[in-house]
Amino acid sequence: MNPPGPKIEILRGDLTKIPADAVVNAANSSLLGGGGVDGAIHRAGGSEILEECRKIVARQGGCKTGEAVITTAGRLSAKYVIHTVGPVWNGGTHGEAQKLAQCYTRSLELAAEHGCPAISTGVYGFPKDKAAAIAVATTARFLEGQTVIEHVMLVSFDEENYQLLNHELNALQR
Ligand code: ADP
Repeated sequence: MNPPGPKIEILRGDLTKIPADAVVNAANSSLLGGGGVDGAIHRAGGSEILEECRKIVARQGGCKTGEAVITTAGRLSAKYVIHTVGPVWNGGTHGEAQKLAQCYTRSLELAAEHGCPAISTGVYGFPKDKAAAIAVATTARFLEGQTVIEHVMLVSFDEENYQLLNHELNALQR
């Protein structure tokens, strides 16, 4: 049974095709584009996103791990892209979990409705089970304390992340 209040939904699909007020990008600290979901977002959204990223870089010099910035979503069906920089997994004793949780909190602070990928679970190598637990727990904790965000979508590109996120959400709701 779903708890009352804002809803967390786990979806399988391509983040660049999600209609939402905002989608969250697993960016890198340069903010100038990269591979994985970052490359897919810039390709699908067009050059407007990179132009805004460049302005942010000129202003604040990129984005630190655990922080987030917001830009237009260009041609995507979302209105905004929130770019957050996940931690590179480095054994787990370098504050990785705390940094990953901060990514979700900062991103949620930046917009009202989200489609959000599994940050750091691609080339940054964060173990997917640990990352899924952090994604669901941090999002749920954040939603408890506010009334602005009505709906958060955690969007998995692959079946493994989809199953892990569902497992975490089911455990939370039991
Ligand atoms: P990071 O550098 O933070 O690890 P990646 O882009 O390499 O970022 O991977 C983050 C997650 O995004 C991975 O689980 C990857 O499978 C997923 N991903 C890649 N493309 C898409 C997409 N179009 N929509 C949703 N998730 C995606």
